[in-house]
Amino acid sequence: GSADLECDVLVLGGGPGGYSAAFRAADLGLKVVLVERYATLGGVCLNVGCIPSKALLHVAAVMDEVSHLKAAGIDFGAPQVNIDTLRGHKDKVVGKLTGGLAQMAKMRKVTTVRGYGSFVGANHLEVEETSGDGQDRAGGKKTIAFQRAIIAAGSQAVRLPFMPDDPRVVDSTGALALKEVPKRMLILGGGIIGLEMGTVYSTLGARLDVVEMLDGLMQGADRDLVKVWQKMNAHRFDNVMLKTKTVGAEATPEGIKVSFAPEEEGGSAPEPQVYDLVLQAVGRTPNGKKIAAEKAGVAVTDRGFIDVDIQMRTNVPHIFAIGDIVGQPMLAHKAVHEAHVAAEVIAGELQGNQELAAAAFNARVIPSVAYTDPEIAWVGLTEEQAKAQGIKVKKGLFPWAASGRAIANGRDEGFTKLLFDDSPEAHGHGRILGGGIVGMHAGDMIGEIALAIEMGADSVDIGKTIHPHPTLGESIGMAAEVAHGSCTDVP
Ligand code: FAD
Repeated sequence: GSADLECDVLVLGGGPGGYSAAFRAADLGLKVVLVERYATLGGVCLNVGCIPSKALLHVAAVMDEVSHLKAAGIDFGAPQVNIDTLRGHKDKVVGKLTGGLAQMAKMRKVTTVRGYGSFVGANHLEVEETSGDGQDRAGGKKTIAFQRAIIAAGSQAVRLPFMPDDPRVVDSTGALALKEVPKRMLILGGGIIGLEMGTVYSTLGARLDVVEMLDGLMQGADRDLVKVWQKMNAHRFDNVMLKTKTVGAEATPEGIKVSFAPEEEGGSAPEPQVYDLVLQAVGRTPNGKKIAAEKAGVAVTDRGFIDVDIQMRTNVPHIFAIGDIVGQPMLAHKAVHEAHVAAEVIAGELQGNQELAAAAFNARVIPSVAYTDPEIAWVGLTEEQAKAQGIKVKKGLFPWAASGRAIANGRDEGFTKLLFDDSPEAHGHGRILGGGIVGMHAGDMIGEIALAIEMGADSVDIGKTIHPHPTLGESIGMAAEVAHGSCTDVP
């Protein structure tokens, strides 16, 4: 049929996956159309995720740090919080980045179309103009014809069905809107997103409760790392409710009244509590069922994910998918790398470039970071996984209580841990399989461990790499030496 626009590659969704795919495809010489329902590019990550949360977490960390300085003889007094200015600061940070993206799209001659996209065939997408918050779909329609498509439609927060529709019940987007600071706040779900937002609100003055169905906060990370964070942050919480379900909620004039039940039979749960703010952070659900994928023949799982192969190809050979919509971990850096693979495969195929066409996503590891205070970062195999999978590992743990820099920073609660292959085949020279760091700037340091894993480094490689002194990064070299068991040159 006739189309309003034609392109080599149609990218659906302008988040980290979508814009990275569009930019790479354009750099490789393809004609690209990028469809996004919101007025700005950047998706969840830039607009209502990674970036605004880190802008606020930075402010919170500085506030907490400054309060610690009292012990060093410096007293700034009690902080005066102007919430409107703080919100404006966060919005400015976001605007800088999303504005930059719009410019980069223009420079690369990527055509961006604002509107809600739905497939109408295997080579056609219909876009309905959107306005306001991006949900309004009252506008005109455009049809875009494409040779290849990359689906990067992302995910959104899960809503519990029994939660009342009330401004005092928010998801992460609502929490980042930073309307006001509540007195009592409930975090529903003890994962990274909930605890990051909780950190911000608590530093601004809120008292926190957290409820989690599983038996520990921050699932996925080793317990020894989480323990350090938990000890340092205990003062923020009135109740940490583990193995507890939220079973009901009611809007009352005093607040949102939430009731709980034990996750296991015979367990106990606290009485109902009343909160000024309830943050739902119980996970994210992919947008796979909202794009009429079936019209293009693309298979979507019951849960809304789109399955892909290592080239990011769906069951339809000329349609690819990347980012949150293809599965866990739902992280921006994963989306970006998948985006580059999809764009390269497509360019390779359309231009007859064998090398590009053979691109594949084969990262060994994807790091995770909780940007709490202290930060928790981990990558590759965890000790818990090693135990569960019966993998023999040699552990090197370096406590920051022995790090000059950590002590000088007044923050020596952390540690760095490396895990090396200790199977008989490794003959005592096993490669690094995983690592975890808890402490200030852990997230900035975990990349080195990821690189070591990708390159198959062993404890000598890492231990003999000269790290600058005094830095927190030194702790990685030290942990390797601990695992190696000596500081000699014997290989
Ligand atoms: P998204 O960012 O979800 O982008 C999808 C885009 O597609 C959206 O802009 C959406 O509007 C658009 N779209 C969807 N359907 C349509 C349609 N039919 N038509 C037109 N447009 C459509 N990750 C990290 O790595 N580090 C962090 O620190 C971090 N912090 C986070 C904090 C919070 C509070 C949240 C919620 C998430 C955080 N994440 C973080 C996760 C990260 O935001 C996501 O993994 C990332 O945004 C996924 O990128 P994506 O391109 O797959 O999808």
